[in-house]
This record gives sequence, C-alpha cells and structure tokens, in this order.
Amino acid sequence: MAEVLEVAVVGAGPTGLWLACELALAGVRVEVFERRAEPVRESRALTLHPRSLEVLALRGLEGRFLEQGRPLPTGHFAMLDTRLDFSVLDTRFPYTLFIPQAVTEALLEARARELGVAVRRSHTVEALRQERDGVELEGAGDTGAFRIRARFVVGADGARSAVRRLAGIPFPGTDVTRTAMLGDVTLGAPPSQPAIGISNARGGVMVVPMAPGIHRIVVNDPLREQVPLRDPVTLEELRDSVTRITGRDFAMREPRWLSRFGNETRLAERYREGRVLLAGDAAHIHFPAGGQGLNVGLQDAMNLGWKLAAVVKNGAPEALLDSYSRERRPVGEALLTNTRAQTALMGATEETLALRSLLSDLLREPWLNRQLANNIGALDVGYAPLEVPAPEVDTPLLPGWSGRRLADMPLPQEDRAEVPLYAALHAGQWLLLGLGTDSSRPLPRWEPGWRPPVTRLRTRIPAAREDLQGLGGMLVRPDGHVACAWAA
Ligand SMILES: Cc1cc2nc3c(=O)[nH]c(=O)nc-3n(C[C@H](O)[C@H](O)[C@H](O)COP(=O)(O)OP(=O)(O)OC[C@H]3O[C@@H](n4cnc5c(N)ncnc54)[C@H](O)[C@@H]3O)c2cc1C
Repeated sequence: MAEVLEVAVVGAGPTGLWLACELALAGVRVEVFERRAEPVRESRALTLHPRSLEVLALRGLEGRFLEQGRPLPTGHFAMLDTRLDFSVLDTRFPYTLFIPQAVTEALLEARARELGVAVRRSHTVEALRQERDGVELEGAGDTGAFRIRARFVVGADGARSAVRRLAGIPFPGTDVTRTAMLGDVTLGAPPSQPAIGISNARGGVMVVPMAPGIHRIVVNDPLREQVPLRDPVTLEELRDSVTRITGRDFAMREPRWLSRFGNETRLAERYREGRVLLAGDAAHIHFPAGGQGLNVGLQDAMNLGWKLAAVVKNGAPEALLDSYSRERRPVGEALLTNTRAQTALMGATEETLALRSLLSDLLREPWLNRQLANNIGALDVGYAPLEVPAPEVDTPLLPGWSGRRLADMPLPQEDRAEVPLYAALHAGQWLLLGLGTDSSRPLPRWEPGWRPPVTRLRTRIPAAREDLQGLGGMLVRPDGHVACAWAA
C-alpha cells in the first residue's frame, strides 16, 4: 500500500525547498524527493534580489541570509557600463545580496527541516500517474524502488524536469545557439571595485565577489561561443579569453569550479495539468543574465505555496490553483523576454557595441534606470484581481489596489509599539487590516466560502504613507500582495 501525502514536491533546489517550507508552515503534510544524495557544492546562482529578500522577510527569515551574504547597492542589465541603482528602490532591501546558491539552499533546507519536512535524498522520480483524487509517483531510491501517492505533485525538478515530461506539458522555445564560460577562482590581483563588467569588440567579462577570497569570472567570448556545452572549460582557456578581452588576467588561480552554460530558452505551455504543477526552472529556462532564475523560482514557490495549502487544508476551490498559472506564467514570459534582450546585447559586433553605448547612456536617466532596476529586482510584479469574494464592507472597494505588492512599513498601534507589516504576515496567514484612528470600529467580516487562516489587525495609517490616506482597510494575501482595499 503506497503512503499518501498531501503534497509531494519533486526536487530539493531552491524552488522546491521554499515551496515545502511554505506548505509545512500552513500545516500541509509534504515531503521532498530529491535525486541527489548530497547537496550540490558548486553554486550556479550568486544573487538574491530585493523581492526575494522581501519574500524571506515575509516569513521573518531575512536575517539568516543577510548574515551570510554581501550586499551591493547595484544590479546590472546585460553587463552595460551604467549599472542599475538599487539603492533608490522602495524596499527594505535596496541591493543585490551576493550569496552563493549552495548557502541559500543549505539555509532553505535547514528551515524546511525545522518545520518538519522530510527531504528524501537519493530518490529519483521516474514515473507519474494522475488519478481522479491524487497522483502516484514511482522511482528509484537508495534502498530500492519507491512508490507514493499524493493529492498534488509539484515538479520543482529543474530544467530537464521529469515531472513536466511525465505530465505531458510541452516546453516550447529555442535551442542553444551560443555558450559562455564561468570560473570560480582566487584572484591575486582582484579589481578595485567589488563588481566590474568590461565589454568591447573582443567580448565581455564580468568579475563579482563570491565568498571571502573567491571571485566569479563570467566570460562571453565570441571566439568561443560555438564551443559545445559538453566541452569542459580549462583554467588556461578562461585565462586566455579574459586576457584577450580585458588585457589582464587578474592573476587567477586555484579554480574551484569551471563550467560552460548556454542560451537555451523555454517556457512551459502551462504551469498546471490537473493535480500536477510546475515551478522554477521546471517551468522556465533562459540564459542566466541579470541573476534572475533562482529568484523567480523562489517567487513562483511563494505564489503557489499558500494557494496549494488553501486547497489542501482550508477547503478552497481548486480553481484557486489556476490563478497560480495566470499570475506566474506572464512573469516567466517577461523573464524570457528580458534575458533574450540581454543575450542579444552581449554580442561584440560594432552594431551591438553601438546599441550598448546608446542604452548605457539612456540608463543614466534616473527614471529609466529605476524602472529597469525594479524589473530585475522583481519589485514591479503585480497581479490582476484574484477571484475571491471581498470582505463585507460598507464603503466602496478601491480600484488599482488588487494585486499590488506591498513594501514593508511600520504599522502604528493605538497603545502599543509599532508592528512591521511583514511581521503580521510571518505565520503565512491572510491579513485583514483595518486602517484609521477609530479603534472602536469593528473589522469587516470576511467569509469567502472556505476557511482561510486570517490575522486581524487594526492600525493607524503610517504618516509617511500618503498613498494610504483615505483607505479604510485592506485584505492582504499571505504572499504580501493586496487582495482588495476599501475606502474609509
Ligand atoms: C551559470 C549559471 C549562473 C546562474 N546565476 C544565477 C544568479 O546569479 N541568480 C539567479 O537567480 N539565478 C541564477 N542562475 C539560475 C539558477 O541557478 C536556477 O534558476 C535555479 O537553480 C533554479 O532552481 P530550481 O529549484 O527551480 O531548480 P534546480 O536548482 O535545478 O533544482 C532542481 C532539483 O531537482 C532535482 N531533480 C531533477 N530531476 C529529478 C527527479 N527526476 N527526481 C528527483 N529529483 C530530481 C535536481 O537534482 C535538483 O536538485 C544561474 C544559472 C546558471 C546555469
């Protein structure tokens, strides 16, 4: 008799681990099945962007990550000379946090285990069968074959997702047409600035800090962009390209990891097929430009976690799961567009260099720089109104608020210390927020026809937030986006 879980997550990368954390926080019986026996030591990703740090802060976890990373107040688009200024963004985290993926995964796995999630390593999923009320998974484990049943399965199993293939979800897009190289090395003569990008007619090189004493070098070398992905990179090859493009080799030595990666770009045709859902790289792959893939995966998981928990635990209609695809697939689509644009800008022809120079000039315009910084930092993601009944209010619902992301802010209390907005969301519940000075005014009833967990809080409107003046309250989703807001 196969064991029955509420949710089985396939893949213990950042997406699967964060999703498992969110589900376990809501009390869902969830297990993670991971093919690898051990965590990966090499780090593909190095960055956590503002919205991902907000996602972690929405659960009170940002401190663990900030302690282990290094903040830089900028980001980049296509390694253009004018960097994106994150310091002006409306967030508590106006920077890129440089933190190796291996560290991020270790912190996420620790959190998952604290919440009681079993992460079953050496478990490769090989077969999947959907039934009316559940999904059966089969695979190979370290102690032989395994078979489990779950009400829902999430494929967070990366670019070559078995779950996606077994669920019959097409993954259309474009093949690799060019490759680039990376090296994690010690630099005897590191650059004077913490992060640099050099682009010229010979190619492009980016050097960023990775860990004490280690830098990552990323190279786009037109003379080597047709080298197949499977060809191993050597230190001499990396040194040769870097020297030819920049005129120096930064005295690189002691490579920890050398790798080649490409611009294969694909998006899952849908993120849900019955009781199977996709998130992270299983749903979207692209050239790793702008440091976004891991970030978008975490944000997918944040969007899906509370919805899946609501269906499994609180009797929400399964239609709520369709809003996951509706909200997150356009974000995946936009990610593919921006990484394709960046890939095109990383060429070294005279025309591309002219375009780079023109765009770099344009990015000196503050509003344009800020718009792109918001985009790469994922602070500009908003959603259409969710089809969930609103609270019973006697004032009109206000247009333009539904789906909006809320930055953290201190909420003044009548007779107590201020509460940070995000602290009121740490438990992963909905937040029914009454705004205004009349503390005797009762909070509205909210009965959407299922049993959402709700925190109810009355607060005065923070003086600094002019945009909130005139609001009587709002209903905030567990992921920190507004569900709806009403007039005072
Ligand atoms: C060179 C490079 C640099 C990058 N830099 C950045 C960056 O700076 N910032 C950023 O945000 N992103 C970056 N990325 C992208 C980022 O690494 C990925 O987007 C991220 O790892 C996706 O996370 P995931 O959890 O969705 O998938 P993965 O990390 O791929 O995890 C999937 C997991 O599923 C497991 N799995 C696979 N098949 C099965 C199966 N059948 N059964 C059980 N388990 C299975 C795998 O072993 C793996 O552990 C970079 C990528 C590359 C290649």
